[in-house]
Amino acid sequence: MTFIITEDCCGTCDTSCVDVCPVDCIHGPMPVEEIRDIQASGDTSALDDIQLYIDPFICIDCGACVPECPVEAIFDEFDLPEEHSHSLESNAEFFE
Ligand code: SF4
Ligand code: SF4
Repeated sequence: MTFIITEDCCGTCDTSCVDVCPVDCIHGPMPVEEIRDIQASGDTSALDDIQLYIDPFICIDCGACVPECPVEAIFDEFDLPEEHSHSLESNAEFFE
């Protein structure tokens, strides 16, 4: 089992889920500190198409990240809505 981040993260990508993950398995296409620098700059257009992903081989299914997400982009893989079913693969592929 794992948890999954959907593309609903795009456009928000505030990295708040990263801080609560006990096993540091949430990562993005650029370092979290770089994402935070962009957020702090005020011009977040560079983050419009960027989301974070959960490494399914490290996630311990604690669920701590779920309530931290302001856009409800994180799901238990077994509760993943049908319209986000492709996110199961995209999260795993990100870590290949
Ligand atoms: S469910 Fe727990 S271990 Fe998995 S990504 Fe979320 S905070 Fe990390
Ligand atoms: S808390 Fe939600 S919106 Fe923020 S980075 Fe994590 S998944 Fe994306």
